[in-house]
Amino acid sequence: MYTMGVDIGSASSKVVILKDGTDIVVAEVVQFGTGSSGPQRALDEAIKKSNLSLSDMSKIVVTGYGRFGFDKADKQISEISCHAKGIFFLVPTARTIIDIGGQDAKAIRLDARGNVSQFFMNDKCAAGTGRFLDVMARVLEINIEEMADYDARATEVTKVSSTCTVFAESEVISHLSKGVSKENIIAGVHASVASKACGLAYRTGLEDDIVMGGGVAQNAGVVRAIRRELGRPVIVAPNPQITGALGAALYAYDEAKKANL
Ligand code: ADP
Repeated sequence: MYTMGVDIGSASSKVVILKDGTDIVVAEVVQFGTGSSGPQRALDEAIKKSNLSLSDMSKIVVTGYGRFGFDKADKQISEISCHAKGIFFLVPTARTIIDIGGQDAKAIRLDARGNVSQFFMNDKCAAGTGRFLDVMARVLEINIEEMADYDARATEVTKVSSTCTVFAESEVISHLSKGVSKENIIAGVHASVASKACGLAYRTGLEDDIVMGGGVAQNAGVVRAIRRELGRPVIVAPNPQITGALGAALYAYDEAKKANL
């Protein structure tokens, strides 16, 4: 039996096709999110790569910020539930999840069975999210994928203290004009994102294992800054950007079983 999970975010669209609730057949990420052709492109690519058709899917579940505009799903489920389910499937020892996406950051506490017992979310402000990093990468004229390498070469962490993205952007420009290296500024940018994510995570009680998901978990500089801030080991989920879509595909499997498909 095949099921599909679709996660339509602000920055990217993700599709996971699952076989029998256990095997990931395809995990597709397109770096365009809601309001663009991203969801359709991710869907088309996933179908093409799997050699299946949409009618082969017993159930489809959609999640993410853009889920309300997607009409091919049997059910919509919240991002918190889907990220939790996806991460617990990949890392069953996970008890605290830190998920940083394009426009929000979440900290989720799981019980030993993978149920969400508590969560905290910042979706009011770009600071502490992928958007903040994208803005800073643009100001610094580097690609988002290069941020971690710059961070690794930093000799010190230049403080970026503004809590507002617009002011932080001016602060970064001011650091640049004073001759501060991009490496040290980027370490400061990562520390700023880490401090906000950890603020959310502390409120959950911070039980081990701590696992990171979301697109920003691909930035090793942010992961390093979070480990430094917490002083604890942090596991990065395998293929962290697809954990929401994976959770949605797992929910779709549960739905299909309930319907005896
Ligand atoms: P959403 O679900 O809201 O669309 P994602 O979980 O896809 O967001 O995360 C998007 C963010 O992840 C981007 O804003 C960017 O900062 C970061 N990101 C995406 N790909 C990479 C990468 N290859 N390396 C580092 N950071 C990345």
